[in-house]
Amino acid sequence: MPPVTNPFPDDPEKAEVFELGYLTGFQDPAGNDSNFLPLTPDLLDIYVQGAEAGREDAHSSPVSDDAMKWVAKSDLDPTAESSSDEAIEHLTVFTIFKIAEELTGKAIFGLFDLIITAVGIQGNVSPEQFRPLDDDFSEDFNGPDPDEVFYVAACPRKDHPQVEVGVSPDGFWSGTASHDFKDALREAMHHEHRESLIARCDTGAQTCSVVWLAEPTQ
Ligand SMILES: [Zn+2]
Repeated sequence: MPPVTNPFPDDPEKAEVFELGYLTGFQDPAGNDSNFLPLTPDLLDIYVQGAEAGREDAHSSPVSDDAMKWVAKSDLDPTAESSSDEAIEHLTVFTIFKIAEELTGKAIFGLFDLIITAVGIQGNVSPEQFRPLDDDFSEDFNGPDPDEVFYVAACPRKDHPQVEVGVSPDGFWSGTASHDFKDALREAMHHEHRESLIARCDTGAQTCSVVWLAEPTQ
């Protein structure tokens, strides 16, 4: 399947909304569509278009490994018997892949300052100093990563109440940086918006991209 591209490259507002929709549909393909971002009818159409593209990608394998399938947020959702924390605890064999750059680039760029603040290296770095991970990046989860690798849950919506912890003046939200992907995943799952994502920043290699998890197909 050819990779999905953003149909609004020349319109930043529409491109961003398409991207938000994509992230939501991709990470939470079975999610409840009534919880969409409040948008004008025009933009809502674009958001839904993005969500559909994301959904489609969620049901295919990561580009670099067709023996894996993406894990949906709904697979980690709390039920009466268990919590998402428990589901995350029981995730044993999984791999972290980069999500399509073209469809997460604006989100990561918008969130960069906040993520870098969470990582604790703000002040001297700009987004331009960091490059994206290679498209075929993957890493098997074996517990916490080395000191220079950080995972941060963040949300590219701009409607977070300023009084909330981790909210930037622009209205974006980020969680706490951790060397353990599972910590960021827990925070992303506890965040109230389906758009929440996980950034993987390597301060040694100076890379920063949006990543998500996949598990072996049975
Ligand atoms: Zn949010």
